Amino acid sequence: MRVHGKIKILRRTHVNEITQQSAREMLEADFKGLCGYCGKNGVGLRERFHVDHFVPRNLDKDRVKDYSNFVWSCPKCNLIKSDQWPTKNKAVPYRGDVGFVDPASSEFDLHLFRNQNGRIEGKTELGKQMCRLLNFHLRKTELFWKVDQLRQQIEEMRRKHIEGSLSLDGYRYYVEADIILNRILDAMYIEKE
Ligand SMILES: [Zn+2]
Repeated sequence: MRVHGKIKILRRTHVNEITQQSAREMLEADFKGLCGYCGKNGVGLRERFHVDHFVPRNLDKDRVKDYSNFVWSCPKCNLIKSDQWPTKNKAVPYRGDVGFVDPASSEFDLHLFRNQNGRIEGKTELGKQMCRLLNFHLRKTELFWKVDQLRQQIEEMRRKHIEGSLSLDGYRYYVEADIILNRILDAMYIEKE
């Protein structure tokens, strides 16, 4: 499975110079609300996402307002990635097996995937190195993926309930699942994942 599941990220082109703050709405739309790196759903998991500079600001001051350098990112990925840029060359995202692949490029899927449990792993050595740079080996990338799947199922049950097509047992299950989901989200928030 892809890191972003069925969702395809497409960063629009020909955007004039824009600040991170002004770009938030467009970027969230282009990334369909998902963290480019770990695929987490920001709205679903109630996190205020960041605008990450793919090539770090400190390395390329000319691209501070360059939309094509922005990545919609969960706070955790943004903070962990920070100023990491192994090649040290702003024009070279990766060299050999080390560096980063832009999550808004089709190339991203060549290097990273989700295993059958939903955990993100590297397909290639470069992908494996990226997992290490983003601490995916220490993070519960499968957990927040599954939590978001549960959230989508609960949304579907809510929709059925509103249109009156949910059975009484189904309704009880929906209420219970919704309570559990909210507890998990609270716990994840406290854990800052
Ligand atoms: Zn993330």
